[in-house]
Amino acid sequence: MKIVVTGGAGFIGGNFIHYMLKEHTDDEIICVDALTYAGNLETLEPVMDNKNFKFVQADIADRDAIYQLFEEEKPDIIVNFAAESHVDRSIENPGIFLQTNVVGTGVLLDACKKYGIKRYHQVSTDEVYGDLPLDRKDLFFTEETPIHTSSPYSASKASADLLVQAYHRTFGLPVTISRCSNNYGPYHFPEKLIPLIIANALNNKSIPVYGTGENVRDWLYVEDHCRAIDLIIREGKVGEIYNIGGHNEKTNLEVVKTILKALDKSEALITYVTDRPGHDRRYAINPAKIKKELGWEPLTTFDEGIKKTIKWYLENKSWWENIISGEYQNYYEKMYGKR
Ligand code: NAD
Repeated sequence: MKIVVTGGAGFIGGNFIHYMLKEHTDDEIICVDALTYAGNLETLEPVMDNKNFKFVQADIADRDAIYQLFEEEKPDIIVNFAAESHVDRSIENPGIFLQTNVVGTGVLLDACKKYGIKRYHQVSTDEVYGDLPLDRKDLFFTEETPIHTSSPYSASKASADLLVQAYHRTFGLPVTISRCSNNYGPYHFPEKLIPLIIANALNNKSIPVYGTGENVRDWLYVEDHCRAIDLIIREGKVGEIYNIGGHNEKTNLEVVKTILKALDKSEALITYVTDRPGHDRRYAINPAKIKKELGWEPLTTFDEGIKKTIKWYLENKSWWENIISGEYQNYYEKMYGKR
């Protein structure tokens, strides 16, 4: 099968490409990525010479480029990871989130409708469900939880999901959607919580924590997410949504303290900063449907995953040091000041 993976120079898309080329040696993978600030070809360096892999630089919202790709490559499956993905940036500049996440998804769907496709898979997020109260540990997001977004990021992702569902209902497009909790693992851009903590701790820099650090996130090791998507595109039922999560809820402060302990660094590095506006309190996924229907469950515990992730950041310093020494540093100083 020929699979187009959009956003494959980013964190999860990159891990997905590594996973697929390892697991399915008969499939061809074409990565389509615009290489924004979040895209990094070094992530794909290990597979660049693989005969089953090809990289195409293109913007998913560029209709001509996407139609040309479909005409030339005739893909069987599209897995759409391409997105603006950082909530803080969506508060600073929502426009690009609408352009990529909504318009870009619309262009991909139009291309699938025009040229035909075996499966279109939309990689969505649990953030479309909004948040849950901190004091109701009995509540979880299911696939039936109504959409109730908080940030321009989550609103743009929810809009894309609605478009995907509409193209299924109106045009009969064979689609699936997955909504996953927070991922962590190798190749994660250092603006996100876990790599930010690791990179700052290794450099003995202060670690910014929003508010009191009590917000809860449900963490999943990225390879478990990749395996879930692989299962959905092969065995998932067309038209369905699948929640993906590992019942691994941690407060942000717990995550910071776990990593500091693992790196033998002092908690004095923690600095509390003004909370993010509209900050979601708690995310928690109920993954019962994907477990029951597709037999998926996470294989990596948080302790194992964090150890593997820290090891990867220690062994691949040049990957993230290149990022934090460049343009990203200006953004960081604007958000958190010079520390
Ligand atoms: P990321 O920011 O690391 O990567 C996004 C990639 O998309 C980058 O390579 C970037 O260059 C590319 N891109 C951006 N705009 C593009 C455009 N217009 N055309 C083509 N390529 C473009 O993101 P990520 O964390 O890997 O997330 C991937 C997907 O998974 C996103 O759709 C995100 O909403 C979803 N998701 C992420 C998480 C998480 O914890 N990171 C959790 C659930 C869902």
